[in-house]
Amino acid sequence: MHEKHWENCLSIIKNNITSQSFITWFKPIIPKSYKDKTLTLIVPNKFFYEWIENHYLELLNKIIIKVLGKDGKIEYLISDKKNNSKNRNNKSQEISETKSKVFFNNLNKNYRFKSFIPGKCNSVAKAAGKRISENPGRNPFNPLMVYGGVGLGKTHLIQSIGNKISKKINSSVYYVTSEKFANQFIDSLKENKLKDLINFYINIDCLIIDDVQFFKGKEKTQEVFFHIFNQLNLNNKQIILAADKSPVELEGLEKRLVSRFKSGLTVELEKPDYKTRLDILEYKIKMENIKIDSEIIEYIAFQVDTNVRELEGVLVSLLAHSTITKEDISIELTKSIISKIVKDTNREIDIKYIQEIVSKYFQISIEDMKDKARRKEIVIARQVAMYFSKDFTNNSLKSIGYHFGGRDHSTVIHAVQSVNDMIDTDNFFKKNIEEINRRILIG
Ligand code: ADP
Ligand code: MG
Repeated sequence: MHEKHWENCLSIIKNNITSQSFITWFKPIIPKSYKDKTLTLIVPNKFFYEWIENHYLELLNKIIIKVLGKDGKIEYLISDKKNNSKNRNNKSQEISETKSKVFFNNLNKNYRFKSFIPGKCNSVAKAAGKRISENPGRNPFNPLMVYGGVGLGKTHLIQSIGNKISKKINSSVYYVTSEKFANQFIDSLKENKLKDLINFYINIDCLIIDDVQFFKGKEKTQEVFFHIFNQLNLNNKQIILAADKSPVELEGLEKRLVSRFKSGLTVELEKPDYKTRLDILEYKIKMENIKIDSEIIEYIAFQVDTNVRELEGVLVSLLAHSTITKEDISIELTKSIISKIVKDTNREIDIKYIQEIVSKYFQISIEDMKDKARRKEIVIARQVAMYFSKDFTNNSLKSIGYHFGGRDHSTVIHAVQSVNDMIDTDNFFKKNIEEINRRILIG
């Protein structure tokens, strides 16, 4: 069956492209199976299907509709050459099924509602997403516009909706970033195929378009998108958008487009609070099947309050480090990884910066810190700033002393020792140190 289908597809393709392109891009494809209206094709490598998708999107859509029917799908598998040569005697087709599996709808199958941890920061967005996936198109949340800063789960959420909808029979879902859309548009102009492109888009049941801020300044692209948007809207098709800013803050986008974006539900993904960060970490740790002390998990959740991507980044680095060095995941390792990942790369943690943070925290001027003053609170602030200078910078003891009013290295050693002693004996002091530590890291 799959061979027959593919043959039919090929005959259409042949009539639509040059024979050179046909030989290069379509001849090497092997049909593998046909099941549930999905034709699975084996392509030589990842680049291959990306090229096909980028250049022959409209054509593929046409053949899907003609040969497989409206709800037909094409799925790609990447052939695994290494295995092929290894098992040459084994006549079966060696394919790494687990490797990359790319679907025509561009969705990443790992983005699911199930793995999208709920919290105050995302409850409205998640609830709306679920409602939409149950009843795409005809619901009060059409279009859905999700916005929020980087790494807060926009792509994960909008793809979860897409994955859920794509399970419905008769529903075609397509996910695309605004950048990719812009490229498709430019290509279609070059190849004189704008009509096909538009035709492809207006026949989708659920269009998900990510990072719409990149439409900025691309007027012609916006015009085409506006047209597609209206067509879909008119036909009660579901549209889902994501952007890094709220519609009113989006720059370089046509007013009429922005006003369309706002015409359904606009919802923000906020930064996760401590409890949600903890839940996310615990979920990911459970999924990885690893053990990390709860104290360390709490420490990460407390320190990394920027976004989920950075939380994940810390976790992944921790795993990598402890696997390579075979060390246990300790609080020291965690600290150093957090400072490397979360620290704003544009901002170097230097002595001056530490002095500023400490001076603000203790409400003591930097001049006093550098001066001869011996009042207890000033001495403590000075010692704490020295302690962190030693901890966070590569300056020598001598250089640190120099930055604190020209004191010598033994004063710095003494300061570090005193602070360590106080951390061990005074819980209240320890809490202060932890807070300063956090402020230095996060800024
Ligand atoms: P954005 O598109 O907003 O930049 P992503 O959707 O790419 O962010 O999310 C970044 C990472 O964080 C992804 O790996 C995603 O799976 C994860 N993530 C974000 N929010 C959550 C959440 N609520 N629960 C679990 N993982 C999340
Ligand atoms: Mg994203």
